[in-house]
Amino acid sequence: MFLNPRTVSDELEILRHLNVRMTLPPKEIQSLSRLEKGFHGELVFDQWLTNLKVEVIILSDLLFEVQKTKFQIDSLAITQDRLYLSEVKNFEGDYLYDAENDRFFICSGKEITNPLHQLQRCDTLLRQLLGNLGFQFQIVSLLAFVNPEFTLYQLPRDLPIVLPTQLNGFIKKINGAPSNLHSRRHRVLADQLLSSIIKESPYPKLFKYEYGQLRKGIYCKMCKSFKLIVRGSVLICNKCNCQERIDQAVVRSTYEYKLLFPTEKITAKTIKEWCAIIESDWIIRRTLKETFMARGNGQWTYYE
Ligand SMILES: [Zn+2]
Repeated sequence: MFLNPRTVSDELEILRHLNVRMTLPPKEIQSLSRLEKGFHGELVFDQWLTNLKVEVIILSDLLFEVQKTKFQIDSLAITQDRLYLSEVKNFEGDYLYDAENDRFFICSGKEITNPLHQLQRCDTLLRQLLGNLGFQFQIVSLLAFVNPEFTLYQLPRDLPIVLPTQLNGFIKKINGAPSNLHSRRHRVLADQLLSSIIKESPYPKLFKYEYGQLRKGIYCKMCKSFKLIVRGSVLICNKCNCQERIDQAVVRSTYEYKLLFPTEKITAKTIKEWCAIIESDWIIRRTLKETFMARGNGQWTYYE
């Protein structure tokens, strides 16, 4: 059972929007592609986990802080006797592990941060967190590589690594151990972990973009084209033909504006300018009023 659904991180979501509305600098294009790849890998891993037949509680994307140290867990599966902490990697291509020096390389020669160190760090911090919460569980920490195009050379057998060809075996192994979660202990643990999650603002990590740099207008929710035309109460995409109700598109675009500019006030004027193709003040005001909480009066009205 997946207790908390995996969602797109704010950082990825913001970059996706910006990528439609401006030409991203090369570094951000790289970040966007890295985040997309990582997120896709986690979805692939979740898909594998759906093959678990034993009783299990799965928690996804957990950011914690223990003694002022933050750590992120991609996936945590709670079974009767064990917690499976998985760090998911969607690496593609040929890699090499130098066991003697405990270092990771891309076969072309470039060294990368050793993901085993990251895993070890998460393992240690999770143990501390469980101790603080008053729980004792055996923890099995694993680095899961999910991309079928990934190869790791010179891999010793005793490392906590699951290769793409071993994912099926990994699932079978968990399925092979009886697990029932009838006692409340597991659910209490899951709930306590979820309530220990911290949220990190994505904005300090992002480059500084400005309103003036961004293309205005509503873009198609399917193909991301700005070629939309208003027909009655719907928007029709000239490129892919998909339709969306105007009020829904305005709400969607308003959430996008809120995410991109979290400190700006939402007013009918700003959203009209942002959406660009909606001529009617009335539609914008009505939609905002229906979805958000109106504050202030008359021309000073804003929405939260
Ligand atoms: Zn479209």
